Amino acid sequence: MRYAVISDIHSNIEALTAVLERIDAIGVDKTVCLGDIVGYNAAPNECIDLVRKLGLSCVMGNHDARASGLEEPNDFNPAAAEAIYWTRKQLTEENRLFLRKLPRRTVVDDAFLAVHGWINDTDSYILSATDASINFRLMEREKTPHLTFFGHTHVRIAYLARNGCVETSLDETITLKEGVMCLANPGGVGQPRDRDPRAAFLVFDAATQEISFFRTEYNIDSCRRKILGAGLPEVLAERLLYGW
Ligand code: ZN
Repeated sequence: MRYAVISDIHSNIEALTAVLERIDAIGVDKTVCLGDIVGYNAAPNECIDLVRKLGLSCVMGNHDARASGLEEPNDFNPAAAEAIYWTRKQLTEENRLFLRKLPRRTVVDDAFLAVHGWINDTDSYILSATDASINFRLMEREKTPHLTFFGHTHVRIAYLARNGCVETSLDETITLKEGVMCLANPGGVGQPRDRDPRAAFLVFDAATQEISFFRTEYNIDSCRRKILGAGLPEVLAERLLYGW
C-alpha cells in the first residue's frame, strides 16, 4: 500500500488542489490528512467539501476544534483567532458537524498512527528531539505502530529512534529499518513555515518502508486575493509569499 500524508490545509483550496493533483500523478492507494483543514485562509467549506468528497481519512487539528465550536481560540494570536471567528460564520452546519466528529488520532491499516500534535494531545507541538523522545515513549507505552505521522508545526522533519537514541533527519527519502521507530511530519499544505512557500506533503510506501517528501507550487496569488477579499488580516496573505 502506498499512502499520501498531508497536513495543515488551513482553508487553502489552491494549495490543496495542487497537492491532490500531484498525488494523483504519483499514484497512491490512500490519502490521510493530519488535521487543521480550516483556519487562517479563506476557503473553509471548499476544503472540507473536497476532503469529504474524496473520503480522506482525517484527524482533528486544534483549528478544527476551535472553528467547530468545541473549544475557544483564547490561546491563539489575534490574527489566528480572528480567522477562527470568521470561519465559524462561514461553515455550513454539515461541515461544522464533520469537523466536530473528527477523531483525535487514528491507526491506519496497522501501518502507522496519524495525529495532529502529540500522540496524546492535539495542541502540543513536537519541536525537538526531546519532544520526540517523549512521544516515542508514549508510542511504546500505548503499543502503537512504530511509525507516527504528525503535523501542527507546518515544518517538514523526521525523528528516528534507535536503541533509545533520537536522530533528526531532513533527508528527502528515508527507508525505515527493522527496530527503528519514526515520527515524521510532512510539512504544511496551506501555510508552510520553513521559508519555502511551496505546499508540502509526503508519500509512504508500506511495502518498502520508504518515506518520500515532496513540495509543489500552487497559485498563491489567488489564495491571497481571497484572504484580502474576505477582510481577513493582511498578515495571513503576506506570510504565504515567504513560507513562514
Ligand atoms: Zn496548523
